[in-house]
Amino acid sequence: MSEDCIFCEIVAKKIPSKIILEEKNFVAFQDVNPQAPVHFLVVPRVHIESIDAVKDNELILIGQMVKVAKQLAHEIKLKGYRLVFNNGREAGQSVFHIHLHVLGGRPMLWPPG
Ligand code: 5GP
Ligand code: ZN
Repeated sequence: MSEDCIFCEIVAKKIPSKIILEEKNFVAFQDVNPQAPVHFLVVPRVHIESIDAVKDNELILIGQMVKVAKQLAHEIKLKGYRLVFNNGREAGQSVFHIHLHVLGGRPMLWPPG
């Protein structure tokens, strides 16, 4: 657990969130500021800052996050969905605990702007 990390606090249930899945290594919860009718985040319990900070021997974690996202998207019968990792402030990353956005429930335009 990293100090002053909002997602570490959510994972530890020190602050509330709308949790939709809890697993040994991951938690998924609703984004507080949804950008689509469906918008949740898949977050590992371990604190890693970003995609850039993922070491080669941790890359399996990324695949596992995608697996969790895919399973949840199928459970709620999303026809299509967008998976997003924002890496770095310039890309829009605002929480520096790695997370995978899962967005859907409407036609997802591309490019997103
Ligand atoms: P980023 O911009 O870092 O890729 O995504 C961070 C996401 O976390 C944003 O979409 C933002 O709405 C969401 N978020 C930030 N703080 C909280 C919070 O306290 N609770 C929840 N559920 N989502 C949060
Ligand atoms: Zn953290």
